[in-house]
Amino acid sequence: MKVIEKERQMIRTAAEKTAQRIVQPRAAKIDATGEFPWDLVEAFGRQGFLSLLLSEQYGGTNGDLTSFCIVVEEIAKVCGSSSLIILAQGLGTLPILLGGNTSQKDFYSTEISEKNSLTAFALNDEEGGLETSSMKTQAEKQGKDYLINGHKCFITHASIAKFYSIFAVTRPEHGAEGISAFVVEDETPGLIFGTREDKIGMRGSVAADVIFQNCRVPQENRLGEEGRGWKIALDALNLSRPAMGAQAVGIAQGALDFAIHYANERIQFGKPISSFQAIQFMIADMATQVEAARSLVYKAADLMDAKVEDTEKLSAISKYFASEVAIKVTTDAVQILGGYGFMKDYPVERMMRDAKVTQIYEGANQIQRWLVAQQLLKD
Ligand SMILES: Cc1cc2nc3c(=O)[nH]c(=O)nc-3n(C[C@H](O)[C@H](O)[C@H](O)COP(=O)(O)OP(=O)(O)OC[C@H]3O[C@@H](n4cnc5c(N)ncnc54)[C@H](O)[C@@H]3O)c2cc1C
Repeated sequence: MKVIEKERQMIRTAAEKTAQRIVQPRAAKIDATGEFPWDLVEAFGRQGFLSLLLSEQYGGTNGDLTSFCIVVEEIAKVCGSSSLIILAQGLGTLPILLGGNTSQKDFYSTEISEKNSLTAFALNDEEGGLETSSMKTQAEKQGKDYLINGHKCFITHASIAKFYSIFAVTRPEHGAEGISAFVVEDETPGLIFGTREDKIGMRGSVAADVIFQNCRVPQENRLGEEGRGWKIALDALNLSRPAMGAQAVGIAQGALDFAIHYANERIQFGKPISSFQAIQFMIADMATQVEAARSLVYKAADLMDAKVEDTEKLSAISKYFASEVAIKVTTDAVQILGGYGFMKDYPVERMMRDAKVTQIYEGANQIQRWLVAQQLLKD
């Protein structure tokens, strides 16, 4: 049974409390040190935030995307990196839920909910692109195993996840239908990780290359039929995009809240800068954009929760628009703080750095616009 409005409100309250009490006090230090916050993984696990998309028997919400977006948004208001733990966990879990058989779903769901095991979603090949021909990672069938070779780039949770949902070519001549999905467990021989990336934002999140060197995986680890991998990947991204948008909305709201607080405190020309119409208009524009982005995100999530078909366009629009809003609003927040906005003493510069990647990952915004146009121009 799907969660209802009251339960979603309870989830928002729980996420808000966790964000304010546990995450916010840690946010600046996580950014400054780049340390991955394992203590927050524990805290999120206790709250069920790492299992949100799982079925109810594992403490989840049966894939209720609205609840997932709510939690990501609340945590992102105070710390982008920490919200990315939940977002990446959801994206890493989705291929198992979309493509896995009953025993795979049971096994991995139990591991995730009982042990707070992290997951990762490894699609992006060295040559990148949401184009099937750019995928060079190969999985060659050898008896009852697959031998995987290839190189994935910038994978969130690489080296710290327990389970990797990965995509590899099993039949090169079959294009999209020649790509299959697998779960690869950490410590599988031949699964190697690159050096952790040094990023300008989301500094507490771990991203690194995932390299397969003769990595042997039993056929039981394949998700779905051979050749279903590309569809699983696209469906997972489609479902995850509103949550990405929710992350962008959260970051933007956090920056707006701080800018309003600062504008009321900062005195110039003998009065708070919030009394100047130029600042008021900026704040009004920021709030308008955040509300518009939030509406799009929750409309997309709502339609997907209602299992409405053909949601790809709205899903891409929500991610595209919300991430554009996030970079605009966080940049304006820095402007409202003036020189102090440029200093590391205040959180808005961190929020601006964190916002940038929302325009890039899970398909850069040029690709989102391409996806929207494809939907509009088809037939
Ligand atoms: C911090 C971080 C975490 C990430 N985590 C993950 C992860 O967990 N899993 C995963 O699989 N990937 C992950 N990625 C990879 C991410 O999804 C890609 O970086 C992203 O999709 C962009 O691909 P690219 O880097 O290859 O850029 P490119 O595809 O090389 O794009 C470069 C520029 O060209 C534009 N462009 C490309 N193709 C077109 C086109 N056809 N038309 C118009 N413009 C185009 C792009 O929009 C962009 O502006 C992560 C990336 C980052 C930065």
